[in-house]
Amino acid sequence: MNNRKFKYPDTKAYEFVVGRLKDRGVNLADLADIIYHSQIEFEPTLTMDRVNEYLQDALHKRELLNNAMVMLELDRLTEAGAVAEPLSSIIKNDAGVFGVDETLALQIANIYGTIGTTNFGYFDRVKKGIIAKYDTDAGHVNTFIDDLLAAIVAAVSGKIAHKYA
Ligand code: MG
Repeated sequence: MNNRKFKYPDTKAYEFVVGRLKDRGVNLADLADIIYHSQIEFEPTLTMDRVNEYLQDALHKRELLNNAMVMLELDRLTEAGAVAEPLSSIIKNDAGVFGVDETLALQIANIYGTIGTTNFGYFDRVKKGIIAKYDTDAGHVNTFIDDLLAAIVAAVSGKIAHKYA
């Protein structure tokens, strides 16, 4: 039931996402680093302060936080054995035909426009910096987190491209 009196917990959602990323070994500086180094060749006047500002703007958007919470929780619940079959095995094995991880990620990548789709494809393929870690980390369920990181980086890179265009 939709409770009209429910107040959306913006601050808690932000803290949840940033805290969970940290628990999974991702600092915001790692993401800022990828964004800065991939955009500086196109925008030579870009500064790390600006990147951090845009990253914070993105991380305060409900569209991003909603999907990010779902993605982080699905990895955790699957790893904890709390997800039913056959979904559990599909997520654990990061099955290529699943696609929900990419769908949730693309919604995040596109919060500043569809340039995010192109950027997401790029970051998902090249797996720069911290994103690469989850390709080789066999001890955990990382089906959603790698796409989440690529999506955040893609969205902020898209915003930079618009701002400096
Ligand atoms: Mg994935």
